[in-house]
Amino acid sequence: MIDATAFDADVLVVGCGPVGVTAALRCVQRGLSAIAVDRSTEIYPLPRALAMDEENQAMFERAGLLEAMHPHLASLPGAEFVDAEGVHVVGFELPDGTTGSLGHPPAVVFDQPGIERALRAGATDAGVELRLGHTVTAIEQDDDGVTATVDDGTTLRARWLVAADGAKSTVRDLVGIEMVDQGFDQTWLVIDTTLLDDTVELPRLAQQRCDPARITTVVPGPGRHRRWEFRLHPDETREQILEPAAIEQLLAPWGTPAQLRLDRSAVYRFHAKVAATFRVGRVFLAGDAAHQMPPFNGQGMCTGLRDAELLSWILADVTLGRAHAALLDAYDAERRPHSTEQVIHSVDSGLLMQAIAEDGDAALGTGYGQRPFPKRAGPLVEPGHPLVGGPLPAPSVPTELPDDGWFLVSTDGPRPVAHRAVEAVRVDPAAFPLILDATHAMLVRPDRLIAAVTEDPATSIARLVPQPTRSESSLV
Ligand SMILES: Cc1cc2nc3c(=O)[nH]c(=O)nc-3n(C[C@H](O)[C@H](O)[C@H](O)COP(=O)(O)OP(=O)(O)OC[C@H]3O[C@@H](n4cnc5c(N)ncnc54)[C@H](O)[C@@H]3O)c2cc1C
Repeated sequence: MIDATAFDADVLVVGCGPVGVTAALRCVQRGLSAIAVDRSTEIYPLPRALAMDEENQAMFERAGLLEAMHPHLASLPGAEFVDAEGVHVVGFELPDGTTGSLGHPPAVVFDQPGIERALRAGATDAGVELRLGHTVTAIEQDDDGVTATVDDGTTLRARWLVAADGAKSTVRDLVGIEMVDQGFDQTWLVIDTTLLDDTVELPRLAQQRCDPARITTVVPGPGRHRRWEFRLHPDETREQILEPAAIEQLLAPWGTPAQLRLDRSAVYRFHAKVAATFRVGRVFLAGDAAHQMPPFNGQGMCTGLRDAELLSWILADVTLGRAHAALLDAYDAERRPHSTEQVIHSVDSGLLMQAIAEDGDAALGTGYGQRPFPKRAGPLVEPGHPLVGGPLPAPSVPTELPDDGWFLVSTDGPRPVAHRAVEAVRVDPAAFPLILDATHAMLVRPDRLIAAVTEDPATSIARLVPQPTRSESSLV
């Protein structure tokens, strides 16, 4: 018999990959208790994420973890599509030391296990309980919470369950959520090496090498880490391509084994899939459990980190009585379309590689890769100003901003509106010159996204900022 009111934690996170641990960490930092379980006792060792965008660097800075990650990070100086001879077709190169609009390098490269170690240490320090070596095998929801059964027969009960259990998510299957195929299925060999010989000339930028003989990605990782990704031909098998001799042959144009030490290799099928819904009752999908995309834009994990950041403040607001349970609907309403756009964007990059391999420069007319990077839409943003739905830029002059919560930023424009959930912040007119003028204020969400740029803050706040309540309604 379940005691409906006894909880082991407010939030149970299934999966301690980067998304699950970030979700648990941000929930705890926002005042909830969290237990995160993983069936594995080890961090996933094979080559996976290598690049992180600026928005997520800024998120980790707010979470107090960016400094601990710094030893694992290096700026990525740019990315380009090149032809079979390595001639530039399209892309960009950044001067050393370039920072983006948020004050961080526009992209950094890293080693995923290194980042995950820093993340787990930070989460544990913040009060997340990590339970490793525990597989969730069943879940049951009722009006008050979720009870998960672990493979040793014990149960864990929480108000909410975040399923961050990866592409083959057990929880997703248990709650019956289907994946919607976005039409991409390719098999690639991924290789991580250490550069041993400085005389070897390798690309300075991340390169998508559109060689009709073999489409290849080359990425300069941090320090001496170098990544290659090779698309398999239809007649090649996983076993053949993973043979040391086959890998040596693929790397031969770049360097010998004495110059490039093979550290790790894996074969992956790159898919493009999005869950039909990101929520069933008290269960929320996040990360690869909710969306999978080919890695060409370096956005798989980054997209999952956005899930974690949004979900954590929504869950905290509802649990702590700052918002009505209806706010939970915003998670699927915002994250599913946005993730779908990211998936399609990544697929487009793969199609562009193929098109350049077949048609050279002419492929640029196909429109692949021309799509703007998606912004958030949905019930928690008010369209209008072009920066709405994107992350708040770093102020141009030193400015104190709240670390969390909703805030309304104005210069000498509209008078701040008294609202107990919204902090009013007066800034120097030079702080956000592209956004604020004498007639507009800017409403910023707890995840530092611009929710509105408005001449009428009272109306925008009434429309966007969740209403407080003391009771959660029945959700299941
Ligand atoms: C070659 C490659 C390159 C990539 N490059 C990039 C990149 O540059 N940038 C980027 O942002 N992304 C990239 N990605 C994507 C990125 O690696 C993934 O999106 C990210 O690891 C997903 O994190 P996650 O936490 O959602 O899932 P995972 O990291 O897969 O973690 C899921 C966890 O759940 C656990 N688990 C599963 N089932 C259960 C269960 N029943 N009970 C308990 N625990 C369970 C697993 O043990 C696992 O630890 C790349 C991926 C690949 C393959």
